[in-house]
Amino acid sequence: MLKDIEVFNKLVTKLLEDEKNNPVAKHIPSSDLFQELDLSVSENPIDENKFNQVLEELVLATPRTATTAFFNQLFGGRNSKAVLGDLLAVMLNNSMYTYKAAGPQIGVEKVILDEVCKIIGWDKNSGGTFAPGGSMTNFMGMLMARDSFNQKVRYEGVTQKMTVYTSKDSHYSIPKNAAFAGIGRDNVRYIPSNEKGVMDPQQLNNSIKKDIENGFHPILVNATAGTTVLGAFDSIKDISQICLDNNVWLHVDGAYCGSVIFSEKYKHLVEGLVKADSFSFNAHKMIGTPLSCSLIVVKEKKHLYDSFSNDASYLYQTDHDDFNLGKTSLQCGRRNDALKFWTLWKSVGTKGLEKIVDHQFYLADVARDYISNNPNYTVYSYDDSISICFNYKGISARELCTSLYEKSELLVGYGSFNEDEFIRLVTINAQNKKEDILNFFKILEQFVEDTVVI
Ligand SMILES: *Cc1c(COP(=O)(O)O)cnc(C)c1O
Repeated sequence: MLKDIEVFNKLVTKLLEDEKNNPVAKHIPSSDLFQELDLSVSENPIDENKFNQVLEELVLATPRTATTAFFNQLFGGRNSKAVLGDLLAVMLNNSMYTYKAAGPQIGVEKVILDEVCKIIGWDKNSGGTFAPGGSMTNFMGMLMARDSFNQKVRYEGVTQKMTVYTSKDSHYSIPKNAAFAGIGRDNVRYIPSNEKGVMDPQQLNNSIKKDIENGFHPILVNATAGTTVLGAFDSIKDISQICLDNNVWLHVDGAYCGSVIFSEKYKHLVEGLVKADSFSFNAHKMIGTPLSCSLIVVKEKKHLYDSFSNDASYLYQTDHDDFNLGKTSLQCGRRNDALKFWTLWKSVGTKGLEKIVDHQFYLADVARDYISNNPNYTVYSYDDSISICFNYKGISARELCTSLYEKSELLVGYGSFNEDEFIRLVTINAQNKKEDILNFFKILEQFVEDTVVI
């Protein structure tokens, strides 16, 4: 074991060193991948040196998500305290279903969930769990909504015409999950949003009313805290009232920006969250833990038991349900995703989490100021968002992003809203500084100047 840990340390040292000079790994076209790297496995073992060499090549050729040049998705950076926790989780290799198998790690998970519920303002009836990503925590929210509408579904299957509501700018996991849940993709109602990407509550209300008249059963409204493209926040306050009036479950998908709950300055963006039935967020996005670290919390913990508990005498042999977290989980065996969040939280405190969140908004302000004051840029995004959407000199966003990627300059993506397509710079890496953001634009502008034809 220790020998491989040494190999690990060497590789990581090399990677960190190389990242400083080369924030983007050299692009390997997918068509050349198997010629460039020896990824094949064979019948016989390979020589140790050869193995180490191949491993090093693989590590150094992998896209770098922790550097000052990665703005491609809604995660980035490398928070060392959280990495420490995740490395330990791998070494310990517990499964989080029972106290017997995970011991004090159960306490780690419980502390995080309890603290999150407290921050939201929920009482001791609340609870939560970790699942492998925001798509899955959204799925859990949908299943609880379905089962709380009709407890028999668990046994008899879906027999009623159920509908769910989400904005047209929400995450694609909603229709996928509707298919998984037996509700059906065709029964997802996409509510229009305003020019800032925020769901229109009036149209939501109309859509629910119309469906009820037509014999449908509205079971869930999904509000988004940070839409995937624009980073917009639906008005939870307005939507919660509509849900209350119509007796519909409210889930808040905060995968991207739900972590604003940790910030005094920005938590107003999720005002009314206390009235939601369930809320999910990804600590691997705004908080910056390694992938994946996704939580769902529920106002009434009983819904977690109702939808996810199943007796299993071969598994649950000691201790109370409160410590056997498998009783409220989507999975059986479950990775310890809580420890990396805990090591970070324990070390920096809630104030430290707040700083992480606030810094991302600061970096977004830096970026927005820069492009707003430069006539070569067209701006498509709004305040209070860490997604900075823009175009440069009218160049096609799609072509510019692809070109920057293929030439190993910057990893940044493009998105679209209504008729516009634009570059989306995401200031989610809290290790970045003001200079890193300004440098992003410098590289982009220099690249455009040097590249005659794009
Ligand atoms: C990222 C994201 C998800 C999905 O989370 P995964 O962890 O990638 O499955 C869901 N909703 C929103 C708004 C997101 O930004």
